[in-house]
Amino acid sequence: MIAPQSTVKVNDIRSIHRVIVIGAGPAGAAAAMRLHDQGRSVLWVDRSDFPRPKVCGCCLNLAAIGGLALVRCDQTVRDLVAGELRYWKLENGGRKIDASLPGGIAVSRTRMDVALIDEARSRGIEMRTNCDARIVDVTAKSVVVRLSDASRDEAFDVALLATGLSGGGVSRWLPWIQEPSGPLGAGIVVDELTGVAPQTIHMICGDQGYVGLVQLEDGRIDVAAALRKEKFSETGGESLKSGRAEILNQINSILASSSLGTLPQELATSLMTTPPLHRQRRAGSGRLLAIGDAAGYVEPFTGEGMAWAIGTGIAAADCIDGDRVNLDLGQQWCDTYAAMMRKRQWICRALSQSLASPSSSRWLMRGMHLAPWIVRRAIWRLNKPLPVAGRAVDLLTRRVSEGPDAAPRSRVGL
Ligand SMILES: Cc1cc2nc3c(=O)[nH]c(=O)nc-3n(C[C@H](O)[C@H](O)[C@H](O)COP(=O)(O)OP(=O)(O)OC[C@H]3O[C@@H](n4cnc5c(N)ncnc54)[C@H](O)[C@@H]3O)c2cc1C
Repeated sequence: MIAPQSTVKVNDIRSIHRVIVIGAGPAGAAAAMRLHDQGRSVLWVDRSDFPRPKVCGCCLNLAAIGGLALVRCDQTVRDLVAGELRYWKLENGGRKIDASLPGGIAVSRTRMDVALIDEARSRGIEMRTNCDARIVDVTAKSVVVRLSDASRDEAFDVALLATGLSGGGVSRWLPWIQEPSGPLGAGIVVDELTGVAPQTIHMICGDQGYVGLVQLEDGRIDVAAALRKEKFSETGGESLKSGRAEILNQINSILASSSLGTLPQELATSLMTTPPLHRQRRAGSGRLLAIGDAAGYVEPFTGEGMAWAIGTGIAAADCIDGDRVNLDLGQQWCDTYAAMMRKRQWICRALSQSLASPSSSRWLMRGMHLAPWIVRRAIWRLNKPLPVAGRAVDLLTRRVSEGPDAAPRSRVGL
């Protein structure tokens, strides 16, 4: 579907004062902090009660940490973990690819998201949890929002939608370019799992999809999977409750083909799931701007998802702060978003398409084995600083910015 062009014209971008940021994942956190740094009045809300678990691989790459540095939160998150990620191991049909990572960390979302909320509050940002937000109207000069903890609707100069994969109800203003489709996400944190090495991102691929595993800051193992929907039986794929046992079976059959252990069946009830992952919507309209997963989702492989979320949060705040007037802010954000993300996401898009069928994934593994520089180059590109303004990103990520040869050399073997 081709998204219609927005017709709203905004002539007084400089008059923007009060901004609402909806959603307290990494996109919302980065946006709220950046807006606060710019001197704006920010209301930041999330409907969840924190700490809350989330389906996520929990790996932050150097681009993500560099983004957090721009809003002075990198140390807040680094303080939660002991060491850096060092290796990326891919297993597919008995073949193994090992590569070194230039850096990055694994941190549970329960702890990271709370740490960012605490940091925001300590800086004086008004942050409300247990507060569901619904967009009621979008006009040329404001966005009207209904907050579950307020008795009246409230108008804001700009609303940033950072609601992740779940936040619906805005298709009237931000129509889908690609409706949600493709694999489902599933995740769980377990106390232990045989074979998961410290400081290592494990990726196991199978006919059903792939599973990512990493050891968290407290030694537990985060398991996050993207599973092909057509591989579920009809009832299992459609109903979350009845489907959990089947989803666990799918994860276990992928793990069974690897050198790692499998998950006990009784954990099925604790499994978290997501709606279909692949999606893209118009990123902005009038004064409503979508950031992070709310704007679109492409499967991450070495911790890119949160980097894109943080990067788009910062860039959207900068877009509001821009000097250009007489422009439709929503359209300006659509253009900025497209320029920022297109080149970034193609590697992950290509990788996920190649892993989508057993034959193409076999070719991919063979290619990576024969030409290990491809893996090294791809990892280097994905860790490159995001194109947002600021000095801290370049400083923090200079190891990768210096080029692929500056990063430790990849070891690749069968
Ligand atoms: C299987 C899987 C593995 C992944 N692995 C990784 C990885 O290793 N590394 C990585 O970087 N990324 C990974 N990702 C991607 C990463 O999780 C997302 O890209 C990232 O969380 C997006 O952040 P966000 O801020 O956009 O949204 P989210 O983190 O999803 O946050 C959205 C927030 O909005 C709130 N919300 C929703 N609706 C409303 C509402 N109406 N009102 C108020 N609040 C609302 C929710 O409660 C939630 O807290 C993975 C994703 C999946 C599915």
